[in-house]
Amino acid sequence: MRDIIIAGNWKMNNNTQEAEILVEEIRQNVRSINHVEMILCPPFTSLSKVAELTKETNIKVGAQNIFYEDNGAFTGEISARMIKELCDYVIIGHSERRLLLGETNQVIGKKVVAAIKEGLHIILCVGETLEQRERGETQLVINTQLAESLSKVQEFENITIAYEPVWAIGTGVSASVEDCKKGIRTIRSIIEKMYGTLSMQSSKILYGGSVNPKNIESLLSEAEIDGGLIGGASLDPENFVSIINKSELFYSKTSIND
Ligand code: PEP
Repeated sequence: MRDIIIAGNWKMNNNTQEAEILVEEIRQNVRSINHVEMILCPPFTSLSKVAELTKETNIKVGAQNIFYEDNGAFTGEISARMIKELCDYVIIGHSERRLLLGETNQVIGKKVVAAIKEGLHIILCVGETLEQRERGETQLVINTQLAESLSKVQEFENITIAYEPVWAIGTGVSASVEDCKKGIRTIRSIIEKMYGTLSMQSSKILYGGSVNPKNIESLLSEAEIDGGLIGGASLDPENFVSIINKSELFYSKTSIND
């Protein structure tokens, strides 16, 4: 049996009122979902509202980022300790933060450590840019991103990796199933090297990059893909619920370890 994870990354979208409308529409339509771990990741400003609206439902909540210090003179930043009051998940290392905000693997590594300290479940994003892919560097890039951002992590626990090839994010062009499998296999082999076979076998690896209701089934048909990190399609309740409903059907299909 295989539980699927579907996480919605709202990015910098939705004020509190819009967030409330979106959550209501999703909440009403996923009540019968039992085998998909559904996670909504709103901006910080609506985290509290989304947490309140999803309390005692089957929907979980995550932040899109944290800073690595607990508190102090870090204007504009939010710590793991602050979000822990509101949610259990956090996305770390999203490519938009790497590329637009200059986050390095070292910074991401510090955030991972901070999140672990607070008992947050991490969705750690890795993936190559188009230029890196064209230079044949995909495996090297994923290897470096994982090795450097997990260098201070002793045990591989409460960490889900999202393979997000940058060229597939927000472009409407998903990676092919073959490309996804290649990236995910690379990730699993690195986890095995770093943490051993058991950690590799129990690891959950998501794919992210233009996932929508039309391509979710072909992606999940592959036992190696444990779910999706969804950007654009998570802002449309109909699309997001459709992705979740389709994912639920994959529960009984075999897992990678069967
Ligand atoms: C993302 O931002 O993580 C993402 C995968 O976006 P999209 O689904 O829009 O490509």
